[in-house]
Order: sequence, then C-alpha cells, then structure tokens
Amino acid sequence: MKHTDIVEILKGDFLGKRVTVCGWVRTFRDSAQVAFLELSDGTSFSRLQIVVDKSAIALDGECTKNGASVCVKGEIVKAFKGEGVELNAEEVVLLGACPSDYPIQKKRTSLEFLRGIPHLRLRTNTFNAVFRVRSIAAQAVHRYFHERHYVYVNTPIITASDCEGAGEMFRVTTQPFDAKYASEAEYYKNDFFGQKAGLSVSGQLEGEVAATAFSKIYTFGPSFRAENSNTTRHLAEFWHIEPEVAFAELPDIMEIAEEMIKYVIRAVLEECPDEMNFFDSFIEKGLKDKLWHVVNSEFGVLDYTDAIGILQKADAQFSYPVEWGCDLQTEHEKYLTDVVMQKPVFIINYPKEIKSFYMKQNSDGKTVAATDLLVPGIGEIIGCSEREADPEKLLQAMKIRNMDLSSYRQYLDLRKFGTVPHSGFGLGFERFVMYVTGMENIRDVTLFPRSVNNIM
Ligand code: ATP
Ligand code: MN
Repeated sequence: MKHTDIVEILKGDFLGKRVTVCGWVRTFRDSAQVAFLELSDGTSFSRLQIVVDKSAIALDGECTKNGASVCVKGEIVKAFKGEGVELNAEEVVLLGACPSDYPIQKKRTSLEFLRGIPHLRLRTNTFNAVFRVRSIAAQAVHRYFHERHYVYVNTPIITASDCEGAGEMFRVTTQPFDAKYASEAEYYKNDFFGQKAGLSVSGQLEGEVAATAFSKIYTFGPSFRAENSNTTRHLAEFWHIEPEVAFAELPDIMEIAEEMIKYVIRAVLEECPDEMNFFDSFIEKGLKDKLWHVVNSEFGVLDYTDAIGILQKADAQFSYPVEWGCDLQTEHEKYLTDVVMQKPVFIINYPKEIKSFYMKQNSDGKTVAATDLLVPGIGEIIGCSEREADPEKLLQAMKIRNMDLSSYRQYLDLRKFGTVPHSGFGLGFERFVMYVTGMENIRDVTLFPRSVNNIM
C-alpha cells in the first residue's frame, strides 16, 4: 500500500500536501461537528491527529475503536491548537476492526499484566519507547565501533566449548528422547556433532581468535545461559556486545568501555528526545539529568580490596558476609554504586579464585586484571579483563582448574604464535537498555523474554 510514515509527516515537510497514512487508532474524541482520532503507526513515539469533519464524511463506528487499524487520506495542515501538524481527513477506511475485548485498555497497563500479552504489549507507549531506544542504542553501538576501525564478527552460536565460569550451558542435541547409552561418552558420540555441544554463553574465545588477526573486533549477538536464578536482571537468552582488542591492557579496555557507554547514552539522549522525556516523566524521575551527568563525568574506579574494606566498615546489614576473597553479591554491588559512588564504577583486580582461567594474573600472585562495571540501580553491566597472554601462566591456570587441555588447543596456539597483550569485555545489551530507560525488569526490554519456566 502506498502511504507515508507518520514520523516523516510529524517532521513538518508535508504541510499543505495530500497524503495517505496507515496505523492503529489510539484515542478517539467526539464533538458535535468534528471527531478526532489519534493514529500511531509505530514509526514514531508521537501520534498523528486525524481531524474528521462529520458533515463531510460518514465515519464508520468501527474506525473509532481503540486498536482498530485504519487507512486515512487527507491534507496535512497546521495544527489548530499548539505547534505541529494534523491531518484533515477526506477518507477513513477500516482495515481491521478491534473488538472490545482488546486487552490494551487505559485502565489495565501494569507492566506485570502486559508481560502476559507479549504479542500485544508492544502497541503501548511504554514498549514503543523501550524498543525505539533499544534500536537506536544498537545502531549507535555499531557506529561507535565502525568509526574506530573495529571488524564486526559473528561468532558461532552452537559451540563445543563452554567459556568456563560463565554459568550453565544449554545442550544442543538431536538424540531421541528415549536414547539409551551405556555411558555419557557413547551418548554424545552418536549425537549430531559426535560430541557434546551447546549454545554459546559468550563469543569471547572466538573473539580472541579474530582479535589476534584484525586487532580490533566486536561481536553483537545472542548468548544463552541456563541461569537458574529468577531475578529481574537475568534472561536465558540475551544480547551480548563483546569487543576484543589486541595491544590493549586493562586500563586501555576500561577507557574503551567508558567511552563506548557514554557514546551510546549520548546518542539515545539526542536521537530519542520524546522517548527519553516519557521515561523521565513516567518511569524514572530525573533519568535524563542522571544520564547527562554520566556522559559528562568520569566513572569511578575502586580496587576490589578497597571495596571490601568499605563494605566491612559500612553502616548496613548484608545477608552475605563480606571478607577478602568473596564474590560481590547484588546487595554489596548496590551499596557500592547507590550509596558510596552514586555513579558507574569499575571494580578492579579481583581475587583470581573467583574469576575465570583466561584472566591475566597480576604480579601480586593473588589477583587478576579483571573489572566489572557496576551502575546504580542494576549492578554489573560489564564483565571485563585483560587476557593472560603468557602461555605458561595460562596453562598453569587451566591445570589448577582441571580443564581438558585438548579442547583448548586453538586457544593455546594464540599464545604460541605471536602472542600479544589483549583485553575485552562483555556488555549485556538488555542491562544497558534497562539503565538508559529506567525500566526495572529485564523482561520488559526484550520482545519475548526467556527465563526459567517461561518461553511464551
Ligand atoms: P551476573 O553476575 O550479573 O550474573 P556474570 O558475571 O555471570 O553476570 P558475565 O559472564 O561477566 O556475567 O557476562 C558479561 C555481561 O553479560 C554481564 O556483565 C551482564 O551485563 C550480561 N549478562 C550475563 N548474564 C546475563 C543474563 N543471564 N541475562 C542478561 N544479561 C546477562
Ligand atoms: Mn561478570
């Protein structure tokens, strides 16, 4: 159907022109002579007002129902009230009626209720804004890396290696449900790949392969984790941005992470003014000021050991005890970001025992050159490290963990043939979208969230 996007019309270039628009009716107001329809086609956060002169057109009652889809022809004129434009209708055609049991009604808009109708919730203002921001943010991520000569690579989704330390892997199999074998090894030998396979939890290991050829690479794709935790910030399927950079040490990659986050936040603030005003008014008061402050100030940096000291002296009741060597729990992260720093903060130099085998061992013999970026309200959004480039130290770390060296031959080869210092990070895209929109549940920033017992 030939028609014009509402977003184009709202820019103002169509003044005085005759156009055709298509969309869904969002509101209807009636008076003696004139009726008003607000139409959304989803190409913009704002809607187009349609003015119907009832003496000129017989308006089909079905076209006035919330959620009905219509096609309207008419002339774009200056709005009667306020700035902007509206459409003087010459013809209003019903495309699809919307009966009164349409679940998207003004009264029933709790996010929890909407989670139960994922196929319809996108037609609300909130989800329109969330997914528009998500899209602009994704574009900005690509732009950031592209402008800086990174190669965008796509790492495998089906993988044989589990990037150790990153949670449980989903299995990929074609075995019949009643397959019986004497041993696990026999079972997998007969499976599609002739060995155990699963969905990738991270593209890092393959990303390192690409970075040791192209210097600067990034991936932006799905990762899968069979997380048993039913939290507001974990999904079984999430989108993962993973740059990997050769000739970069921990401070270099931290600088990149900070610059990238600021770049993307600025892009969202500048390119999505209507959406960000909406979030600022209805989802998180003060959101825009908070984000501009983030863009214009330095992120904090806190040594893990100092963070432990702060937590031990804290005037707060934690349910998990704090001692050097422990992993930081959400409550600890929240205290550090929300109470102590009140801005994004990198926690650096974690104890080697609680981090992964591939992280560069610091000269103190106790810690690794790793950092998590924590942000107020959410906690960790980035996991980052310099990778161990010394083949001997890497081997030793793998042996301590009883890892099967034969399945990491390629990875070890990278250290054998022209090894280089290199670093990378993983940013959970949904967590980032939560941060910039103020949405508090990760299920509300992804189209069809997958989590324990939920695959609607
Ligand atoms: P967490 O401790 O929060 O569970 P993690 O330390 O297991 O995260 P990493 O392995 O460091 O996570 O992954 C890098 C990033 O990917 C995290 O900082 C986070 O932003 C994101 N991420 C990890 N797991 C999930 C998940 N289940 N759902 C959504 N995002 C995730
Ligand atoms: Mn992490």
